[in-house]
Amino acid sequence: MTEKVRTRFAPSPTGYLHVGGARTALYNFLYARRHGGTFILRIEDTDRERSEDRFTQAILDSLSWLGINWDEGPVFQSQRLDRYREAAEKLLASGEAYCDEDPEKGRAVKMRMPRRIIKVPDLVHDEIEFDASLNDDFVIIKSDGFPAYNFACVVDDADLAITHVIRGDEHLSNMPRQLVLYEALGLPAPQFAHIPMILGPDGAKLSKRHGATSVTEYHDKGFLPEALANFVALLGWSPGNDLEIMSIEDMCGLFDLSRARKNASRFDNEKLMWMNGQYLMNLPAERLAADIREYLVRKNVDLAGYDDVWMTRLAEAYRIRIKTLDDLYVAAAYVFADEIEYDPASMKKVLEKEGVLDVLSASRDILAAQDDWASDRLEERFRVFCEETGRALGKVAQPIRVAVTGSTASPPIFETLALLGRDKSLSRIDSVLKRLPTASSPE
Ligand code: GLU
Repeated sequence: MTEKVRTRFAPSPTGYLHVGGARTALYNFLYARRHGGTFILRIEDTDRERSEDRFTQAILDSLSWLGINWDEGPVFQSQRLDRYREAAEKLLASGEAYCDEDPEKGRAVKMRMPRRIIKVPDLVHDEIEFDASLNDDFVIIKSDGFPAYNFACVVDDADLAITHVIRGDEHLSNMPRQLVLYEALGLPAPQFAHIPMILGPDGAKLSKRHGATSVTEYHDKGFLPEALANFVALLGWSPGNDLEIMSIEDMCGLFDLSRARKNASRFDNEKLMWMNGQYLMNLPAERLAADIREYLVRKNVDLAGYDDVWMTRLAEAYRIRIKTLDDLYVAAAYVFADEIEYDPASMKKVLEKEGVLDVLSASRDILAAQDDWASDRLEERFRVFCEETGRALGKVAQPIRVAVTGSTASPPIFETLALLGRDKSLSRIDSVLKRLPTASSPE
């Protein structure tokens, strides 16, 4: 009988969830899903100085936002101190560990490092040999009574019956110590897969220097969780067949460690942008609308009075014009504003022209007489007006656009008017009409 797959993600709550952590979490999640297994979340909060509850919360929020849902936990290491002490006692009793008295730091428990070669099997890399005699004895219980990382990690992975540990290869160097601990405690070791690091566009290890690195920042910048999860998954794995756009559900069915890359991947901002654009274009409009609502609320936009139908129309009108939700927040700010700012160049180019006052007041009268504010009704009405007066639709639409949005760029004018609604549209045109000089001055 094959054992049931159990994976875990074990972040330390000393900062936000960064891209590398998100990838580790995602791979463990996908691996568990692919094999009908269980994905467990464990919070490694044993660094008392650097761990903070707000980071735990931020990590949980980022995981949920990305759609990486855990089946068990979160298990907090700080609540398992008795268990680590008990395991340490066992090693003290067998002589494999000893108490180490430091006059300054106090009393710690240290594990003896055997002097031999340790073979480290790995599902991504070839087997690596470590000469353990190069490693010193190491602390397992710190003088503050809290366990050291390697020790708590081994005890927990064994207690949680973890079968596969997928994590960044910065942890490869911990393997000799962890394997020694498994052996000394008489616990079965899981299988390990150490995945290569992520590089920035310049080839150096991805860091803050390269810009946003935390999931929270990408959320703030208006990326969609589906796009970010998809992009992050491809930093170290691909399903083959040039398949790139995959939902989390797709990836759950495809993820395979044998297709994990052995060398580092580069973080390509442009590709992330492109991918986000793809998701913006193709997500079901209702889903996108829900993301837009969430994003705008996050940006403190007052959405009282805007229902889901309206939000879906906003999504449809803008999805091809933006690369991120932040682009929408900027481009559609005029919709929500009480007072809009008029772009001086657009004013000059479109509104401060001869004849514009006439056309804009005529348009105003047409709009004011219009009961049905649906965009195609408005369009029909204006087509008649243009025909009757021999005007090009663009010449009529552009002054209205600048008057109601403040600039020359917006979705098609009648859609824009429909989104804005009657009251806002009319009052903005009115206020522009008041500002325009009655006779265009020749200077
Ligand atoms: N808390 C460790 C980290 O965040 C976990 C490492 C591991 O997965 O064992 O790097």
